[in-house]
Amino acid sequence: IKKIAVLTSGGDSQGMNAAVRAVVRSGLYHGLEVYGVQRGYQGLLNNDIFKMDLRSVGDIIQRGGTILQSARCEEFKTAEGQQKGADILRQNGIDGLVVIGGDGSYQGANKLSKLGIKTMGLPGTIDNDISYTDYTIGFDTAVSVVVDAVNKLRDTMSSHARSSVVEVMGRHCGDIALHSGLASGAETILVPEVEFNLDEVADRMRENFANGKRHSIIIVAEGVGRGEDIVKGLKERHASIDARVTVLGHIQRGGAPTPFDRNLASRLGDFAVRSLINGESDKGCGIIKGELVLTDIDKVVNTKKQFDMEMYNLALRLSQ
Ligand code: ADP
Repeated sequence: IKKIAVLTSGGDSQGMNAAVRAVVRSGLYHGLEVYGVQRGYQGLLNNDIFKMDLRSVGDIIQRGGTILQSARCEEFKTAEGQQKGADILRQNGIDGLVVIGGDGSYQGANKLSKLGIKTMGLPGTIDNDISYTDYTIGFDTAVSVVVDAVNKLRDTMSSHARSSVVEVMGRHCGDIALHSGLASGAETILVPEVEFNLDEVADRMRENFANGKRHSIIIVAEGVGRGEDIVKGLKERHASIDARVTVLGHIQRGGAPTPFDRNLASRLGDFAVRSLINGESDKGCGIIKGELVLTDIDKVVNTKKQFDMEMYNLALRLSQ
């Protein structure tokens, strides 16, 4: 392998830049030529490919977003689009591609590998919804954004003895809600992985307020539904509940990546390059219990992330 390329695809996440930097610098360190593809698979189909050097990734490790930009590309979901993408890479002499993105992006990498391009996937998403890795790049930063927001909400909510319903991202995965809920001392954490009963939630809130609680925080994963509907449901059950909804939205995808995300991205980016050099292809790079792991992309996209019930139960026990 002599020339590799890197692209970012799908929803962006904090730490993608750190991952791009690691791929570029590790590739150059190992004597490869490294190319950047702008705007994901869309840029690939437009042949929007440029050579990168040590300086092209300077001053980016601390930045959210992605200097390569991201995009969604319908054409690449077709067999013709994929063939065109593989042909363009070959015309540029590129034989390896590192794709930083979520599930969908991995599927694209899988298709390219079947057309003879060596591919590696890096988990770049705040959702932490990729099964073969304990953490995705951006998750830790997103959690810290939520926790910071909840701290601020607590100040004002306790002044008024109100409750906050905070809707967080995560698509079908409750990890952002779980980790930020535990870290912020939320009273209730609603996730798509665990069934819940809103009557019980409302009763508990009323009891807690009767017993002197000044405020409560309810974290709702977007996979459960809208925070607004939860507030409505609570008020229907007990008119005395004074709850306000906060939808954090894309704020969760912004900001400087935490040291954890930068280091994760750096380790995984370097690992992807070394794995390509070792002849691996069609694999997702991840980390399990601190160890770097490679998993077949076929397996990655067909396995659902396991929810950490132990942590969920701990959050419940501590939220009395
Ligand atoms: P994410 O990577 O964050 O899950 P998407 O699901 O939107 O985001 O996927 C990003 C891009 O990956 C899509 O716009 C498309 O170009 C490509 N992609 C997604 N699914 C497939 C697929 N089944 N085959 C080929 N390419 C795909």
